[in-house]
Amino acid sequence: MSNFRLAVEQLGEKPTQHRFEVGPGWWADRQPDTDRPTETVRSPFVFVLDAARVGGGILLEGRFEGEIEVECGRCTRRYPHALREGFRLMLEPATRDFEPVDPEGRQDLAEKGVWLGEDLEAGWFQGPLIRLDDYFGEIIALSMPLQPLCKEDCPGICPHCGVNRAETPCDCVDEQIESPFAVLARLKKS
Ligand SMILES: [Zn+2]
Ligand SMILES: [Zn+2]
Repeated sequence: MSNFRLAVEQLGEKPTQHRFEVGPGWWADRQPDTDRPTETVRSPFVFVLDAARVGGGILLEGRFEGEIEVECGRCTRRYPHALREGFRLMLEPATRDFEPVDPEGRQDLAEKGVWLGEDLEAGWFQGPLIRLDDYFGEIIALSMPLQPLCKEDCPGICPHCGVNRAETPCDCVDEQIESPFAVLARLKKS
């Protein structure tokens, strides 16, 4: 069990700042065994957020930062990749007669004190403690690069000689696909 908990009774109308830090082990434990992560967590994931009561609800607003080492999708070199994501979550109280549309919602509310909507911008809370593990996990997942690139114009691996062109340039010439305009220009000349 982690420490990512907000005590509802400690929150007031004036926003208070909360800082949560999570190490590589926490992230690794959340990954299914079948799906070994390719990334390595290089520095702790840090969440800094303001929490305040708004009407009957709770508003969480903040940002997430972290750094992973991941394999470049083009040259397969491992490189450090900074993660950054802002977030805003509005939680409404789940009253006694509140019925989540999803059967898991009832269980989440009872066990974790919180149930998240699908868009991760709204949710419901119940009881004295709000456990933010699942929410933080979703935010981290959102910030992960879909196609990691060591640099935007990474030249990748040469399809001819197999050299990693991000490290060593090679002399191979890529066959250019001739543009229709070039073909036209040549036809005109002849
Ligand atoms: Zn690369
Ligand atoms: Zn080459």
